[in-house]
Amino acid sequence: MESRELDALVASVPRQLFIDGRWSDAASGSHLTTLNPATGRPLAEIAAAETADVERAVAAARRAFDDGRWTGLTPMQRSRILWRVGELIERDADQLALIETLDNGKPLSSAKKVDLPQAAQHFFYHSGWCTKLEGETMPVSWPRHLAYTLREPVGVVGQIIPWNYPLIMAARNLAPALACGNTVVLKPSEETPLTALWLARLLAEAGVPEGVVNVVPGYGRTAGAALAGHPDVDRLVFTGGVVTARDVVTASAGNFKRLTLELGGKAPFIVFADADMDAALQAAVRGGFGNQGQNCCAVTRLYLHKDIAREFREKLVAATERLKIGEGREEGVEFGPLISARHRDRVESYVGIARDEGAAVLTGGERPQADGFFLKPTVLAGVTDDARVSKEEIFGPVVATYDFDGPGEAIARANSSPYGLAASVWTQDLSLAHEVARRLRVGCVWTNCFSRFDAAAPWGGVKQSGYGTGIGRHAIEEYTQPKAVWIDTATGDAVRGLPAF
Ligand code: NAP
Repeated sequence: MESRELDALVASVPRQLFIDGRWSDAASGSHLTTLNPATGRPLAEIAAAETADVERAVAAARRAFDDGRWTGLTPMQRSRILWRVGELIERDADQLALIETLDNGKPLSSAKKVDLPQAAQHFFYHSGWCTKLEGETMPVSWPRHLAYTLREPVGVVGQIIPWNYPLIMAARNLAPALACGNTVVLKPSEETPLTALWLARLLAEAGVPEGVVNVVPGYGRTAGAALAGHPDVDRLVFTGGVVTARDVVTASAGNFKRLTLELGGKAPFIVFADADMDAALQAAVRGGFGNQGQNCCAVTRLYLHKDIAREFREKLVAATERLKIGEGREEGVEFGPLISARHRDRVESYVGIARDEGAAVLTGGERPQADGFFLKPTVLAGVTDDARVSKEEIFGPVVATYDFDGPGEAIARANSSPYGLAASVWTQDLSLAHEVARRLRVGCVWTNCFSRFDAAAPWGGVKQSGYGTGIGRHAIEEYTQPKAVWIDTATGDAVRGLPAF
């Protein structure tokens, strides 16, 4: 695409806040500038929500919830609207993928193959739930009483999302919340607000009524904090890091809002000696360096059985060095820039920390070029289990390798992390695979595969990776509240005379 066409595409993205179905500037006139991480140059200047704007957005969402303009539609009508959103995402997939690449830096091929289909899938899948929010009847011990539940939406939902998969994060949060009849205020990351704003336009086009979804890009410390602490938000879904999560938990205590926390990870990837080495190697490279390692479930701790460790490590280094690094739109690029200079510096500092702690840097660890926020994919060896790079989430392209002897050792070391989000196990031995999957303290285990996501499969962490489940049937439970209804059926005249049985 010519640069003039690119400029026109970026110029066509909405630049204002989306509140109550209308586009508006921040009350204070505040703006933020989003950068292209591949060049470090400004991409777009957009309105930045502050406390007053979040107030307006929550008030709009509250009105939209209370007057029933969304819950009052029939389940089938809501279902059709959400399905339509999925179709509109597919219609605009090329533009959305390009904008995601420009704003986030990820390779365009990944945006097209991963981000766009998954974003659409969340709306297709969750649209089906609108017609299936059933209650239950309970066999209570009160004679002639009927007790049943209504499954109702929780109300106004606040959603705070990060920058690593901006459109997927918006879609995977909005789709189940809307399917259950909630109204939403969504705060995208200041780093990557553009596709969420485009999505807001698609929601309106699909027929989501005014005020049902409000999108307020802004800084975390202002807009995010205002949303987390807002007394009229009934449920908050926060996806981000543990440090921010602590503030969010404290802020949410004001009105005891219900919380889902989707936090960081330190995923172990365990390769036994009988594993399919080529498949494991490919998955380790993709899992460690896909999305530039900026994945909550990225392969960060690679445990290799001692019999294959040396060969695997050599092949891993070679495969890592073959990755084509560059601007995401370039043909064949597999590895782009990190999200920001600040984040690149932080990730790079971990390479220094690893060296200071005695690790060997087998490849990477340096900046391949001056422009943009690039850092080469990095493989470490000789890392101890209590090193900082073994314990802390780096959230970048740094894979530490370790040798192990037997399954018990691998499981114990994999579990020796404050995080518990995802893990991957590689073996041809089915019994071993099941046993390891059972013993790992994580929310998701991939066996002989890595990074499988589906709108139907639950996703959530244990330990400091958070709590609650954001996707699929389990998310539907979190976005709804059962209400118990009791009826004394013995009060009618006709009934009174009947013998009890
Ligand atoms: P972050 O710094 O914690 O920010 C996450 C979101 O919170 C952003 O929208 C941020 O806004 C906002 N925020 C910042 N300070 C806030 C405050 N005081 N109150 C309320 N909101 C505030 O995390 P990040 O660097 O964007 O994302 C990386 C983290 O997300 C990693 O730990 C990663 O593992 C985790 N993650 C988890 C999952 C999962 O499914 N478990 C998925 C993706 C990412 P600004 O961007 O404007 O500061």
